[in-house]
Amino acid sequence: MEVVYNGMRRIIREAVNGAYSILLNPQFYDSITLHSSFDYSTTSPPHIADLIYNSNITLFVRVYQSRRRNSRVLGYFKASHPNRLNLNSRRLNRRIEYLVATIIHESIHAVDHAIRDYSFGHKGNHSAGNQNSAPYWIGKLAGELFIGKSPAVARMNAENFIMDIDIEEYALDDIEEDVVDYMEVELLM
Ligand SMILES: [Zn+2]
Repeated sequence: MEVVYNGMRRIIREAVNGAYSILLNPQFYDSITLHSSFDYSTTSPPHIADLIYNSNITLFVRVYQSRRRNSRVLGYFKASHPNRLNLNSRRLNRRIEYLVATIIHESIHAVDHAIRDYSFGHKGNHSAGNQNSAPYWIGKLAGELFIGKSPAVARMNAENFIMDIDIEEYALDDIEEDVVDYMEVELLM
């Protein structure tokens, strides 16, 4: 899997580079493989690790500005544009590990979407109740590994993560409402 960003925002460049390094890190795949199971998943963690490792998807980061100034949508993936990873420009002022987590979270949706026979998403679009879904758990894992936490820590249950990474998303309706009048900030693909 590859995540590409050709824009000028330094924070996104750094986060995409961070996500790239995570996707090359054997500890990332080992930690997923050793996880017991994911909620809302029809296949096993080792299989999901394999699917991510072997994915040949290229995702292009697209930055949009939500219509609502106080939008809490951090980013989203939409099946109609399976090669786009959308990030809200209003929510970029976060620690870089949180952005890495968001990028990996959305990347897991892209892999899930590309694999027709299995699914490993989450229920609803809020982090509450979804901590043990593949996108949230693996996104958090990426954030933990990025700041140098050991896989032993990262393997712990999501509730025990030292750093509570906020990777909330909201219901698609909210996102639609949000992006209906979005301002195209950067569109590079
Ligand atoms: Zn999600």
